[in-house]
Amino acid sequence: MPVLVMKFGGTSVATLDRIRRAAKRVGVEVAKGYDVIVIVSAMSGETNKLVGLVDETSPLYDAREYDAVVSSGENVTAGLMALTLQEMDVPARSWQGWQVPVRTTSAHAAARIEEIPTDNIMAKFGEGMRVAVVAGFQGISPEGRVTTLGRGGSDTTAVAFAAAFEAERCDIYTDVDGVYTTDPRVCEKARKLDKIAFEEMLELASLGAKVLQTRSVELAMRYKVRLRVLSSFEEQSDEAGTLVCDEEEIMESNVVAGVAYSRDEAKMTLVSVADRPGIAAAIFGPLAEAGVNVDMIVQNISEEGRTDMTFSCPTNQVKRAEKAMEEAKAKGDINFHGIIADENVAKVSVVGIGMRSHTGVAAKMFKVLSEDGVNIKVITTSEIKISVLIDRKYMELAVQALHDAFELEKAS
Ligand code: ADP
Ligand code: ASP
Ligand code: MG
Repeated sequence: MPVLVMKFGGTSVATLDRIRRAAKRVGVEVAKGYDVIVIVSAMSGETNKLVGLVDETSPLYDAREYDAVVSSGENVTAGLMALTLQEMDVPARSWQGWQVPVRTTSAHAAARIEEIPTDNIMAKFGEGMRVAVVAGFQGISPEGRVTTLGRGGSDTTAVAFAAAFEAERCDIYTDVDGVYTTDPRVCEKARKLDKIAFEEMLELASLGAKVLQTRSVELAMRYKVRLRVLSSFEEQSDEAGTLVCDEEEIMESNVVAGVAYSRDEAKMTLVSVADRPGIAAAIFGPLAEAGVNVDMIVQNISEEGRTDMTFSCPTNQVKRAEKAMEEAKAKGDINFHGIIADENVAKVSVVGIGMRSHTGVAAKMFKVLSEDGVNIKVITTSEIKISVLIDRKYMELAVQALHDAFELEKAS
C-alpha cells in the first residue's frame, strides 16, 4: 500500500481533544488506503518547559543529558496518539526514535539523521498495522545515547521518514494554513502562498521562519519529497495548504518572496583584538568547538594593529561564547580588552529568487528602514537574501514596513 507521512506539531496535539481531531484526519487517510506514518511533536509548551528545567539545573549543561530530558515530551504524545487511534479501531502503535531506530550523529541537541531502516515498521504494516506513530525530534547516536535534532526537529523527522519510506507525500499539519509571505502573527497583511520554491523556503527557514525546520527543507529538496504545509484546525482538501516544490513548478513569483525575522539574536563584540593573520581562526575555532552558532561577522577597520571583531549568535549561547573566549584568552591564543554583549537585537531578512536578476532590493530595504528611523547594526547578503541586525524593539515595525514596501500582500 502507498505510504503517507503526516506530521502534527505541538499546537495540533496540545490537548486530548486536539489529538482526537488529528487522529480523525489520520483515519481519513487510512480509509483511503494509505499506510500512514504519523510523526508527533511534544504537546505545545512541553519542550520549552523541559528546556527550562535543564537550564535551571545546569546552565552549561551536558548536552547528552539535555537530550535525555527534552526528547521525553514526544514520547508522551506518541503513546497518546497510538491509544487514540486504537480507540477508533485503527490498528496503530507508537515508536520511540531508538526503537525504529532513527540513527543520528552524536552532535547532541543538533544531531543529524544518518539512516532510518524501514524493515521494522514495514514488517508491522505487513502484519496489518495501519499507522506507525513515531516520536519526532529524536534519534539514537552511534554510542547508543538518545539525541535530539534541534528545535523544531520533528519537521525533519517527518521529511526523513517520507524519504526513507518513499512516501507519496509529507504533510506537515500546523497552526497556520500554509506558508505565508511573512509570519501572519506579526503582519496581518501576510499572504498565504500556494507554492514556494525549495530554495526560498530554505532561506526563510534558516533566517527564522519557524514554520519548517531548515534541515527538513534541505532533505525534502535533496530527496524530492512532496512537502506540504497545512492547518490541522480546518477541514482540508487535497489541494489545501502550501506546496514546497521546485522553482520550475512555479509560474509567477515576486522578486521578494517573503520576509523573515529572528528574535533571539545577540551581538557580541570583542574589543581591541590584535589584527594579525590567523586571528579570525583563533576566535571562531574555539567558538565552533563550544557549539556556538555564529551567524553574521564584521571586522572593523584596524587602528594601530588592533581591531574590534563583532559577531552574532543566538541569545542563549552568549554565556557559552563568553566562556570560550575567556578560555582562549587565558591560554594566550587571543587577547582582547573586553567583550560587549548586546542581547537586545533581532535579525530581519528579505528573501527571493528574483534577487538574482533584479538589482536595487538592498537599496530599497535600507531606505525603508531609514524612513522608519531604524538603525542597521550589521548587514549580510547572499544571492537571494539580505539580512540586517537591528534593535529588537523595531523588529515588528521593520517586518511590516518591508512587507508593505515590497507589496507582498499582492500576488505578482
Ligand atoms: P508546530 O508546532 O506545528 O511545529 P511552529 O510554531 O513550529 O508549529 O510553526 C508554525 C508557526 O510558524 C506559525 O504559528 C507562525 O507564527 C510561524 N511562522 C513564521 N513565519 C511564517 C511564515 N512565513 N508562514 C507561516 N508561518 C510562519
Ligand atoms: N518539540 C520540539 C520543539 O519544540 C520539536 C518539534 O516540535 O518539532 O522544538
Ligand atoms: Mg515547528
